[in-house]
Amino acid sequence: MERLKIAIQGRVQGVGFRPCVHAIARQLGLTGWVKNNAYGVLIEIQGERVLSFTQQLTHHLPPLALIRSIQQDKIPVVQGDLLFAIHLSDNQDAANTIISPDTCVCSACLHELFDAGSRYFRYPFLNCTQCGPRLSITEALPYDRDKTSMKPFPLCEGCQQDYLDPENRRYHAQPTACTRCGPHLSMPIEAVAKRILLGEIVALKGLGGYQLIADARNERVLLRLRQRKNREGKPFALMLANLASVNSMAECDADAAHLLESSVRPIVLLKKKKNLLSDLVAPGLNEFGFMLPYTPIHYLLFNAFAGGPNGLEWLQEQQSVILVVTSANLGGNPLMIDDTEACVELEEIADRVVSYNRAIVTRADDSVTRMIHNKPMLIRRARGYVPNPIPLVNALPPTLAVGGHLKNTFCVTRGDEAFVSQHIGSLNNKASIEFFHDSLTYWLSFLNVKPERIIHDLHPDFYTSVWAKEQELPAFAVQHHHAHLASVMAEHGVEGRVLGLALDGYGYGLNGQSWGGELFLLDGEVSQRIGSFYPLFQPGGEMAVHEPWRMAVSLLHALDLKDEVDAHFPDFKQAKALYTVLEKQINTLKTSSCGRLFDAVSALLGVRTVSQYEGQAAMQLEALVTEPEVYPHGWRISENFFDLRPVLNYLVTLKDPVLGANVFHGTLIAGLADWVLGVCCETKRNQVILSGGCFLNRILAEGLVAKLKNVGVTALLPRLLPPNDGGLSLGQAWVGGKL
Ligand code: ZN
Ligand code: ZN
Ligand code: FE
Repeated sequence: MERLKIAIQGRVQGVGFRPCVHAIARQLGLTGWVKNNAYGVLIEIQGERVLSFTQQLTHHLPPLALIRSIQQDKIPVVQGDLLFAIHLSDNQDAANTIISPDTCVCSACLHELFDAGSRYFRYPFLNCTQCGPRLSITEALPYDRDKTSMKPFPLCEGCQQDYLDPENRRYHAQPTACTRCGPHLSMPIEAVAKRILLGEIVALKGLGGYQLIADARNERVLLRLRQRKNREGKPFALMLANLASVNSMAECDADAAHLLESSVRPIVLLKKKKNLLSDLVAPGLNEFGFMLPYTPIHYLLFNAFAGGPNGLEWLQEQQSVILVVTSANLGGNPLMIDDTEACVELEEIADRVVSYNRAIVTRADDSVTRMIHNKPMLIRRARGYVPNPIPLVNALPPTLAVGGHLKNTFCVTRGDEAFVSQHIGSLNNKASIEFFHDSLTYWLSFLNVKPERIIHDLHPDFYTSVWAKEQELPAFAVQHHHAHLASVMAEHGVEGRVLGLALDGYGYGLNGQSWGGELFLLDGEVSQRIGSFYPLFQPGGEMAVHEPWRMAVSLLHALDLKDEVDAHFPDFKQAKALYTVLEKQINTLKTSSCGRLFDAVSALLGVRTVSQYEGQAAMQLEALVTEPEVYPHGWRISENFFDLRPVLNYLVTLKDPVLGANVFHGTLIAGLADWVLGVCCETKRNQVILSGGCFLNRILAEGLVAKLKNVGVTALLPRLLPPNDGGLSLGQAWVGGKL
């Protein structure tokens, strides 16, 4: 007979961990107890088979659990210990544990949802320890019902029974509720479904915020949605009932299907098969963003569309209704979560606002992903992914990194874990800045971290840089592209000297110049820029981002092709004038940005001369690619400049945008591989880190990685965080934490 004390850390609370421990202990005939504490779960077991316990446990973990560490010590046997019990949590302030992200409804709950015999039949808020809301309803840790927005809903007798029964799936399921005791929708789901089919735009309160929902097959409602939301071109995401419906519309291989059906339920960008829907869904793009239902409300909606059958048979078949689901917010503001605000402000966009009486504590947008080489790459990391930590190779001092200006996220380190916040958005309005501060307070409190230093971008005027420097803590700046690359090094645990290629839109360079196509030699917290794209003038600064034709004129200027301005831009009177300005070089900054080069080529080929949203010109150019082609001798590498002017000269002569897109992508990839390989040989490296927003371009990312692999160079891409500015904060923390 032996007794062990076992301390387990990781995602072990609120995921059905203790009942699982209980069940295994009983199976092995062990006695003792299990309880939650501030660090995770503490177990004492006693019996003859204590040594098989941890092995059994790790093999039978509940799906949402994640073990970071197990510490096991032999302790003296306790005489007369005859039972295995689940003890109440230690109530300690210093919570050091984590909670699970919000998770899609599990299969057991889905079954009950449509089972007429279940207590939870058609209840839109059913959940259990394996599924349901978590972060979005949690006010503080340790995770208990009275610290969530379920506090105002005392459990009814039936729910209380489920909650207290260790054999029940709802044992200590903090958000559990039923029709009798839980939250309610403000309108019957059948009525909501009817409204949508009649062509109304419904603002429906979701898991992480209000969403606008409409029938994607109805062109008139799409047009109305675009007008009312003042959103001209940015693609809308689609929600379909099941995989069979997605398969009928898009190319979805097993890996993409797996991601779509995962409990995270992100939006996955997939190539559309044929054009079944109006171009208003995703103008000029060859992909749609798809997601599957993730809350019971979503399933009830699709069930209503299917005529309201009981059971789950209807869900096996392809469904005809396709929904547009987009975040309910006004012009760049964060997602709406406040009910009063929503009722007033969404009235202008939605025909109907449908709510429920459980508060959303912290907002989270839908996460967005794209498959790159059959593995997900994140475009926006929010619901379903946060607050999962990124494990680090080494512990860092408590560090706060405040991220960039666009697609802001911040990062807080706790020991050897880095917590990156949900996507906050662009900090160019008051509401987003408030969201940033609210979230920061919230995260620091539930992570129980007091930062010792703050890391910010090198740009002196970013809101986050100014704020960081005003605080009393030591503040350090990290260059934008260094942070982009360091984020990937942190994620992959890369130590020592390594090459890094950043292909990005804009970042403040060491000399104050605009960077975005840079090759670095990195070593821990030190970075050395060893080359860049051949710089072009960026006429009008920020204006050139919204008006790619300006970059095209700059490109023609760099090629000394004045006569081509009229030929390419007959309708832009300003184009010729701009060329003249460039000849005089008045107040014009240069940029080595790869993103701006994409803009220039897109405008030059007539694909997109004025952008309606960030990245549109490049995305539409990518969408045209059929088969990348290499233009021989299309690039030069001299004096540390990667110069594509030879192929650009050829592109000027092309009339066919598809050929142009193929040649630009193919030659860019071949040239980059040549450039990187040259430096690899010089510096005796065979690994390169890739990051920056341009790597969301699948043709570029897959093409470059494959080409480098062919010549023996391993390229690492960001996988846990986006390559765009959403991933900056981790890199900042990683570099800044080592200073
Ligand atoms: Zn469940
Ligand atoms: Zn109840
Ligand atoms: Fe960037």
